[in-house]
Amino acid sequence: MQLYNTLTKTIDEFVPVDGKIIRMYTCGPTVYHFAHIGNLRSYIMEDALEKFLNYSGYEVKRVMNITDVGHLTSDADSGEDKMLKGAKREHKSVMEIAQFYTDAFFEDCAALNIKKPETVVPATSLVPDFIHMIEVLMEKGYAYQAGPNIYFDTSKVPNYYALTGHDEDQLRIGVRDDVEEDTNKRNKSDFVLWFTQSKFEDQALKWDSPWGEGYPGWHIECSAISIRHLGGQLDIHCGGVDNIFPHHTNEIAQSEAYLGHPWCRHWFHVQHLNDKGAKMAKSTGNILTVSVLKEKGYDPMVYRMFCLQSHYRKPLEFSYEVLSNMASAYNKLLNRIKNLNPASEQADAGQVAAYKEKFISLVGNDLNTASGLSLVYDVLKDKALSDATKLAVIEDFDQVLSLDLTKLRGVSEPEKAADNELVQYIEERIAARKAAKKAKDFATADAIRAELLEKGVAIKDTREGTVWELV
Ligand code: AMP
Ligand code: ZN
Repeated sequence: MQLYNTLTKTIDEFVPVDGKIIRMYTCGPTVYHFAHIGNLRSYIMEDALEKFLNYSGYEVKRVMNITDVGHLTSDADSGEDKMLKGAKREHKSVMEIAQFYTDAFFEDCAALNIKKPETVVPATSLVPDFIHMIEVLMEKGYAYQAGPNIYFDTSKVPNYYALTGHDEDQLRIGVRDDVEEDTNKRNKSDFVLWFTQSKFEDQALKWDSPWGEGYPGWHIECSAISIRHLGGQLDIHCGGVDNIFPHHTNEIAQSEAYLGHPWCRHWFHVQHLNDKGAKMAKSTGNILTVSVLKEKGYDPMVYRMFCLQSHYRKPLEFSYEVLSNMASAYNKLLNRIKNLNPASEQADAGQVAAYKEKFISLVGNDLNTASGLSLVYDVLKDKALSDATKLAVIEDFDQVLSLDLTKLRGVSEPEKAADNELVQYIEERIAARKAAKKAKDFATADAIRAELLEKGVAIKDTREGTVWELV
């Protein structure tokens, strides 16, 4: 596979160190709120990557952390503790919040066909490992104690900015810097490994450590969890682009200082999903969730398709208008697949293999999922293929796309015809209602809505267009 590597800034041939097994680490969610669909864009693309590697014949060992301690509202070790913020907001304990939002996260993942990594590790479950790693960093002279905290000394690593390619001053251009400078730091880019004498009086979670009671910084968890479960050589590390600095930059510094050798060869970063130009963020309340999409009548698969249609290295602009178009494209696609009639024919194994090869070469070009998806349409159009072969190829691709492309099949022929007619009818009536509204004929528009409802179809006007669902 050819895959862009943030570390080398080139598209590299991706090959695991260890033959057929790929060691993959993913930064998991900070569980103080629901995951927004921006976060989930990152997880959808990481899921597609994992499944594509599997599909291409590799075994993937994937580990994800759950950040349930140590992540402050500013990535520069200042501000409030995010978990504490969530607990206060909901008048619950930090652990209750963590459990609730971890479960909610995996429910959202299930709805989007994002496979749960085989190893999921809450940060709070591995604090002794973090302490051990910090002790080694202290012994090796990479960490120091100042004021109440233990810091990593970034001046001790030769190429601290390797991942970003820029130094911190350049990186911070345009970023509002409303956090006061921590005077305990020897260098501006140093970061906290361990907070002692907790800076928050009501800090809920504290552990004993050689430096006093306290809690770990955010970055140390991913290094320690990754090394514990995947060893000292990582093939690929994933996250959204906001993680490049400081989080992943700091992970590299402390992991390589601890191990004494290079750690992760390939860095995969997903660009952000934006909503009206602003970065979606849990902390600002600018948050759109899978549940909101479902309430508005969208199948979560439509959102997955929306993500797969765009390249992971391009920012993606969210709008209901585009999502509605995607919903209609998805429905049409499912119906075309549903109408395939393989009867009792056998799929042609040679043709299936040829399409598999094509799919691998298209998607293997820097995870070009959009090309993989358009190949589904080519398959449907290909007159040289029997319906049985088409179906077999599409089922095969769906191992990676995970769009439940054949979910309407298994329905009887009369039902199938009725269903197609229904979709057509709904689309026609929605168009007629739109025309009536435009002509200010609201009585007709209301009558169409009522008529649809009587047939079990609820429609909803969103700012960006009309959506429908069966009730
Ligand atoms: P968090 O829960 O904030 O730790 O973030 C979970 C994941 O979502 C990380 O990989 C982030 O880099 C990623 N992420 C955060 N915001 C966005 C966004 N707007 N679009 C895509 N990915 C994001
Ligand atoms: Zn991480």
